[in-house]
Amino acid sequence: MEALLESALVPSVPPTRAGALLTIDLAAVRANYRLLRARANGAVVAGVLKADAYGLGMAHVAPALAREGCRVFFTAHLEEGIRLRGLVPADSRIYVLHGPMPKTARDFVENDLMPVLNDPGQVHEWVQCAHALGRPLPAALQVDTGMSRMGISEADLQGLGKPARWLEGIDVQLLMSHLACADDPEHPMNTSQRQRFETLHTRFPRLPASLANSSAVFLGPEFHYDLVRPGAALYGINPQPGSPNPLRQAVSLDARIVQVRTIAAGDAVGYGARYTASGPRRIATISIGYADGWLRALTGQGYAWIDGVRVPFAGTVSMDSITLDVTGLPEPRIAPGQSVELLGAHQHVDEVATQAGTIGYEVLTRLGGRFHRRYTDIC
Ligand SMILES: *Cc1c(COP(=O)(O)O)cnc(C)c1O
Repeated sequence: MEALLESALVPSVPPTRAGALLTIDLAAVRANYRLLRARANGAVVAGVLKADAYGLGMAHVAPALAREGCRVFFTAHLEEGIRLRGLVPADSRIYVLHGPMPKTARDFVENDLMPVLNDPGQVHEWVQCAHALGRPLPAALQVDTGMSRMGISEADLQGLGKPARWLEGIDVQLLMSHLACADDPEHPMNTSQRQRFETLHTRFPRLPASLANSSAVFLGPEFHYDLVRPGAALYGINPQPGSPNPLRQAVSLDARIVQVRTIAAGDAVGYGARYTASGPRRIATISIGYADGWLRALTGQGYAWIDGVRVPFAGTVSMDSITLDVTGLPEPRIAPGQSVELLGAHQHVDEVATQAGTIGYEVLTRLGGRFHRRYTDIC
């Protein structure tokens, strides 16, 4: 296990050469997994690891979850599933959400991956493969209950006839669907999708079922069924915006100051001269930008923290740098090399997302490849 882990690790940029330090708290991810398990009322808690574990690094997150007993995982793409297979215990079940695209069924079989079958074409692909191999092949079956994104529609189900026939050769392990509005507990879609799911479930009476993402774990036990599929909550994103976040933030990000200058009233800062000083100002330039995932939409909206003091972005976010208004901070605190917090004790990923007009998912999955990455696992 340890050796496997070593070989799977992506080398990180050395700390002195990187513009920012990204610290991933694996103990927080594990604690979040335990909290979800406690909330899931006995349902199996799978780990959703698509997009490199939402940007945190699947090579580290997967073994950390495995240590907590997690043995069911979801990725989006086949390639992610193949990579994950080398990172988790052999008895782990790995589902690939996008299912078998044409000519990929053998890749699934050879890597011991289970596709989520999303439409009659994917079902056919898997049935053909099972026939060719002369043995049943495991899979999950996704039904659409109102999101119109992935999953077999009710009309398709009608057309297919008796499941025993069109699923011949497939060992269906899970019936699943996905909610469109689970982050809004009051939304009527939650109940309507659940009711459609119940109705469709009656066509596959004995199949284990799964409907809940992170947010739906908190919608109540009637959404849990046999297995829940949290991603975001594992990584500290608040599953119920508007309510206190019960999860631990798993990521902190610190850039550093490159240069400090004094500007006078009327001086402009940054591309487009969008910021003009109304009086004398101290401006610090830090070594992170939109190429690192610190979104350009944070222009005029974002904040950083220096020694517990909140400082606003001044001017347009550049590709590799951001200018901060550090007027009033004591000089030793704003020297080149000084570390500047962008995510951590003072600033949560969900706050940054709000400032940028997006969601925490996007902030995490955009975190760039130029950071020095550090993984900690201290309880
Ligand atoms: C991404 C995804 C999840 C996990 O969703 P979170 O909101 O991150 O918990 C679960 N199920 C499906 C089908 C998904 O695409």
